[in-house]
Amino acid sequence: MSLPDTRVAEDSYAELARTLDSARLRRDEPLAPYTTFKIGGPADLFYEADSADDLGSSIIAARHVGIPYFVLGLGANILIGDKGFRGLVIRNAAKHFKFFDDGKLWVESGAVMADIIPQAVERGWSGLEHYVGIPSTVGGAVWQNLHFLSPAPERERTMFIDEVFERCELLTETDARKVVDRDYMEFGYDTCILHFTKDIVTWAEFQLEKGDTAVMHRILQENLSWRGSRHPWLQFHPSAGSIFKKIEGVGAGRLVDQCGLKGYRHGDAQISHIHANIMVNLGHATAKDVRELIAIAQKAVEEKFGHRLEPEIGFIGEF
Ligand SMILES: Cc1cc2nc3c(=O)[nH]c(=O)nc-3n(C[C@H](O)[C@H](O)[C@H](O)COP(=O)(O)OP(=O)(O)OC[C@H]3O[C@@H](n4cnc5c(N)ncnc54)[C@H](O)[C@@H]3O)c2cc1C
Repeated sequence: MSLPDTRVAEDSYAELARTLDSARLRRDEPLAPYTTFKIGGPADLFYEADSADDLGSSIIAARHVGIPYFVLGLGANILIGDKGFRGLVIRNAAKHFKFFDDGKLWVESGAVMADIIPQAVERGWSGLEHYVGIPSTVGGAVWQNLHFLSPAPERERTMFIDEVFERCELLTETDARKVVDRDYMEFGYDTCILHFTKDIVTWAEFQLEKGDTAVMHRILQENLSWRGSRHPWLQFHPSAGSIFKKIEGVGAGRLVDQCGLKGYRHGDAQISHIHANIMVNLGHATAKDVRELIAIAQKAVEEKFGHRLEPEIGFIGEF
């Protein structure tokens, strides 16, 4: 018995190509280059949305045609399967932004934090500098409630992006666009309401505060050097950041480390030598390698400590 062909049908492609800018609609696009793990097979269809409106239209078009879709930011918190994605991957490259005199920042959800942070610092607006060095689009940051445990003694606490979040526009499951505030978003650790809906952030607004540029530059340097000394460097060792969810007061990485798994290699995937909650791609790792390595770490930790480690990253597409 042969399995049904789940690839996007020719007429669905033709209909999408009529609705969207066909020059930006690609077929069989390998996804690995669009992720920080550098892992993942092809998307049947791939579209780069270049504005908030374009992002909304492309999602509505996919819904109308009736094919699965996935909104991709920088691909820093996901593992894409080796067989890729049957449907349309919409890469969010909507990057327009505007700073206002009262410290408000309006920004499209595909803007990259690494591009926005220097713009804010240059204008003397504080609030985003803590997240320097974390690969993320604004949409991904809202989805995950981006956070960072500050290393500096005077602000040694976990900071969350929702502290400066004011409101955002959502494209809802019914194709409506609505503006919602912080309370609506139900932000938590690594989560917000978007995890339970199919709503997509098209743009967001942040309220920043007047800050001392010299202090902000100090924070940028401290945070970057803290990361540089404790995390494997993405340029050399692609990863998706922390693989397992935090275990309050224990530390998922510490448990993996105490199982003697630092540096453990499976295929071309490895548990980092310097951070046991990060798995790195040594060059040719497959999604299968990573999934099996995750299972190895889970089994070891469960047997030794009785804790079940839960993956923090999203698993996308076919494995
Ligand atoms: C080296 C490294 C270090 C990291 N350090 C940290 C850290 O210190 N703190 C931290 O919090 N995270 C960290 N991460 C994880 C990652 O950076 C964040 O989760 C980030 O917010 C992911 O953003 P993204 O744009 O890459 O989202 P993606 O990985 O592309 O997508 C993640 C999810 O968000 C959804 N999404 C993306 N855009 C939108 C949108 N516009 N509307 C609705 N949903 C959307 C996607 O559909 C997907 O489900 C790290 C990752 C790496 C690789």
